[in-house]
Amino acid sequence: MFHNLDNQIQQTDRQSVSLTQQLLGVLSEEEYFARQEAERRRKLAAERQAKLFAGERERARVLHLMKCPKCGMQLEEIAFGDVRVDKCFSCDGVWLDKEELDLIRERERIHGENVECVWPVTHRTG
Ligand SMILES: [Zn+2]
Repeated sequence: MFHNLDNQIQQTDRQSVSLTQQLLGVLSEEEYFARQEAERRRKLAAERQAKLFAGERERARVLHLMKCPKCGMQLEEIAFGDVRVDKCFSCDGVWLDKEELDLIRERERIHGENVECVWPVTHRTG
């Protein structure tokens, strides 16, 4: 009698363990898919953000193109010797990019102390 009861308990325990294992399997599978889905959504959000950022950058580029960073007025290209730089005739700011600066430095290096002939604002081109 007790022997049968022991067998029944053992069988119930085995079924319980099996059921638990199945449930854990299902849960871990669900968790796996949930994580995959979360990762997919994170990727989509990052792509959306990158697109938005690219769009905003382009809008800012168009908005600020050839505008004085100091006063916001239109810049005009002028010649500094044989180097072309951007000048604001509103605030007298002169703006140049790295290549233009490198060219001016090179002229300075070549001409030594005779900097004045390297730096004259020669004429307005606009
Ligand atoms: Zn300005």
